[in-house]
Amino acid sequence: MTATAHPFDTLLVANRGEIARRVIRSAREAGLATVAVYSDDDREALHVREADSAVRLGPAPAAQSYLSIEAVLHAARVSGAEAIHPGYGFLSERADFAAAVGEAGLVFVGPPAEVVAVMGRKDHARAVAERAGVPVVPRSELAADGVADPRQPADNAVGFPVIVKAAAGGGGKGMRIVRAEPELRAALESARREAAAAFGDDTLLIERYLENGRHVEVQVLADCHGSVVHLFERDCSVQRRHQKVIEEAPAPTISEAVRRQLTSAAVALAREVGYRNAGTVEFLVANGEVFFLEMNTRLQVEHPVTELVTGLDLVRLQLLVAAGDPLPFGQDDVLVTGHAIEARVYAEDPYSGFLPQAGRATIVRWPRPERARVDGALESGSKVTTAYDPLVAKIIAGGPTREAARRNLVAALDETAVVGLTTNVGFLRSLLASSAYQRAEIHTSWLDADPAGARACEMPEIPRVCEPIAAWVLARVTARVETAARHSPFGTADGWRLAGPAARIPVELRYAGTTSSWQVDPVTGEVRGSGGGPLRIGLVERGEDRVRLDVDGVVVETTIVVDAHQVTVTLQGQPWVLERPDAFAPSKSPGTASRDVVAPMPGTVLSIDVVPGDRVATGQVLGVLEAMKMELALKAPHNGTVERAGAVPGDQLALGDVVFTVEPDEGTLEQAAP
Ligand code: ADP
Repeated sequence: MTATAHPFDTLLVANRGEIARRVIRSAREAGLATVAVYSDDDREALHVREADSAVRLGPAPAAQSYLSIEAVLHAARVSGAEAIHPGYGFLSERADFAAAVGEAGLVFVGPPAEVVAVMGRKDHARAVAERAGVPVVPRSELAADGVADPRQPADNAVGFPVIVKAAAGGGGKGMRIVRAEPELRAALESARREAAAAFGDDTLLIERYLENGRHVEVQVLADCHGSVVHLFERDCSVQRRHQKVIEEAPAPTISEAVRRQLTSAAVALAREVGYRNAGTVEFLVANGEVFFLEMNTRLQVEHPVTELVTGLDLVRLQLLVAAGDPLPFGQDDVLVTGHAIEARVYAEDPYSGFLPQAGRATIVRWPRPERARVDGALESGSKVTTAYDPLVAKIIAGGPTREAARRNLVAALDETAVVGLTTNVGFLRSLLASSAYQRAEIHTSWLDADPAGARACEMPEIPRVCEPIAAWVLARVTARVETAARHSPFGTADGWRLAGPAARIPVELRYAGTTSSWQVDPVTGEVRGSGGGPLRIGLVERGEDRVRLDVDGVVVETTIVVDAHQVTVTLQGQPWVLERPDAFAPSKSPGTASRDVVAPMPGTVLSIDVVPGDRVATGQVLGVLEAMKMELALKAPHNGTVERAGAVPGDQLALGDVVFTVEPDEGTLEQAAP
């Protein structure tokens, strides 16, 4: 038998975000036409723009869009798609979806529906693993037939601690670690409720909890001609609440013997279940012992690290075997070269309980392509909602050794800046720079339970150079204004000169409730102040969104965003927001000035969104100014009525020009004033 059992020319990607873009890229390279799908929230999304065509699925809630089998199949019909790639998440591990795709006469880029069904359940997958001779985690006697009865927390043969998990589970949901008998009943009950709500199935498993283990998983690939190969392993032990944060290949702590055991167990399991396409067999490795955890019957989020070290394109191979072609290589042809590490960028606040974040990212700057691969779906101006998974990008770096890859990834995160939307980039950067990571000591519960892990989740101190840099930039803005220059403060590469004798420029900053005063010498670049210094700062190089500064002889790369009320300085991936309690924050100052909305910097009017007579609310955007290559929203200082709109798009404004006057509602002015 040869190729073309199910040939297809058009692929629908039933997903969104970075993974939809990733699949579209390889599909295009394979010569396929691509169809994107989208919810109302994603009409303008990057994956929609990049596909050859796009079909709307429905409203924003996933249940009515990306999780609707009916809507996805309808999209395939109207677009003439002949195959569907599910990505990860959403419908990717739904056996009913895989079956429905087949019944509709389309090719599902994944394993057969029966395999998805069996491996999608941790209890059934365990049984397959046992049949294939793969070691599994000891299961509690409490779990009769793999099903725990919370009414009988009697004899626990495996001993405590145990982990309670949902048989139908995923994404760490429905998991509870139980350290002693008295906690068991409550844990079972809450896990059961969570499992029922998340998966519509409340079957639970109780396993021995393996402390300080490492999560090591094996990538497998199988075609429909009987060939099953592995692409070696990934270590995904850096986790928070059983969710992966940083992954790498190869695994840094296992012996060759354990590696052979893992890879052969994964291949045996894939053969046993009649696997096809790409899949991942997950294991826990504790004290040199290997235990099967589960199998994921889809492409993993972390597949790029395997691609970097093997040089293979996993999506391309998925499409190939889905088309019925044989794998174009054998096991002996798969070689691992060097090391790769991936960091997952989430829209979340790591320093405030990892709460998911929403909002518009005003500035997004990714590392240079020669530094790292970025699989993302976020650009300047992108809006992130909490309707979907908070993963916005993955940054993947490689190198000849683990240490080289780690250094490259740290440098890549240093080049990354996301402003306006809170992400975990700074957290990832400090984690990767830690000695615990460098020494490969981070195990699966380190971030959740180890004191050093807990410290890594605390907001770090503001870097010493941060406020001086902010003061220096603000002084430059001021100096530019005084010399009537209309360009950005970075407009000249050779420092800046004032017409008259150099007077020190005073700047005030506020951080964490404390105001500091700074004096900046515009000729020497010396910054001194109540909060630190003296430091000498000079401009080395100015890029599109980034500047390189010489700070006391050390070159610092940063992205700086100045707006009316704050300055954001991004250092080592972390944006530090400093308030400007000074004259450049006009709408915050009391008196008649606060009726006026003035240009906080010299710039060009991009839009005027209100006309005199309009009723406006505090914070409402009245117009947009472009200054220093940034868009600056001019906002209403209080509830009121627009009395005057004194500019039109295209107007050049000087600092302090009045753009709008808003007559406050009775009594609101006093409240608005500080
Ligand atoms: P999910 O499908 O929800 O991702 P997994 O079974 O893959 O669940 O487990 C996710 C993570 O939970 C693992 O990587 C590991 O950190 C932890 N875990 C699961 N089972 C155990 C166990 N028996 N002992 C210790 N940790 C475990």
